[in-house]
Amino acid sequence: MFIIRTIVTVIVSGAIAAGSILSPPDKYIALTFDDGPRPEVLLGENGLLDVLDGHSAKATFFFMGWLLADEKGSAYAAAKDAHQRGHEIENHTYGHGAFRAMSDRYGEEWIFNDIEKASARIEALTGRRPTIVRPPEWSIWEDMRMKLEARGYRVATKSTTGVFEPLITEDVDTEDYHLYEEPLDEAAKQKRLYDLVLQKIERRERRGAYGHILVFHELSMSREAMVALIPELRKKGYGFVTLDDYLKTLESARLRTPSRYVGDMLRAWLWK
Ligand SMILES: [Zn+2]
Repeated sequence: MFIIRTIVTVIVSGAIAAGSILSPPDKYIALTFDDGPRPEVLLGENGLLDVLDGHSAKATFFFMGWLLADEKGSAYAAAKDAHQRGHEIENHTYGHGAFRAMSDRYGEEWIFNDIEKASARIEALTGRRPTIVRPPEWSIWEDMRMKLEARGYRVATKSTTGVFEPLITEDVDTEDYHLYEEPLDEAAKQKRLYDLVLQKIERRERRGAYGHILVFHELSMSREAMVALIPELRKKGYGFVTLDDYLKTLESARLRTPSRYVGDMLRAWLWK
């Protein structure tokens, strides 16, 4: 099997060496931040929203509905600010329960209600119903994904034992939450995160992917890492778009060059 995969990899890589979807000069990154809104990270001098504004970068925030319950609270105000500055607000469920555990405990209907509760809070805030759900802990399986899609959502995820996600549309885990737990000082953590993200992107570029959905969390170290990461990635030719725009761009690229999409799917499968 290994030899067959290697041979096919060489053939496919050669056949599509001319470029896959989102190849230069079409290089895009969707910066996404989970588990907010956290006003202590988003707001204030050099808050994440100021950092993003300073680099004219639009991002996507996957908020948890329960943090938006109090319309007079600071989290709600921070979320409102993010929306008014042009960032995209999407759905990370109401209570952040992992789907598998919640499904086993309460049944699937509970999950749909949890997602709808979050969508209602976000729609009240932005006037727009979220169209993308990122399952907490990436706990998802194919049947559940299809049910969410039937309800009008796209699912932001990565390939796990339960689903297959092509390279170009998979979530890239920056592992900031793991680094956050490590016994290092703040500057060392930021540097590690910076290096890790650049390494992951370089690896993905070697596999022909010039579009990346980067998953961060609303942590102070991630905010600080952005200060150096955004300009460095811009130097490499990347533009920053919301996840909705990223997926739409991909969709139009796919329609333009369906053969490249097939190549990308194949390559993604070979590398798994
Ligand atoms: Zn989360």
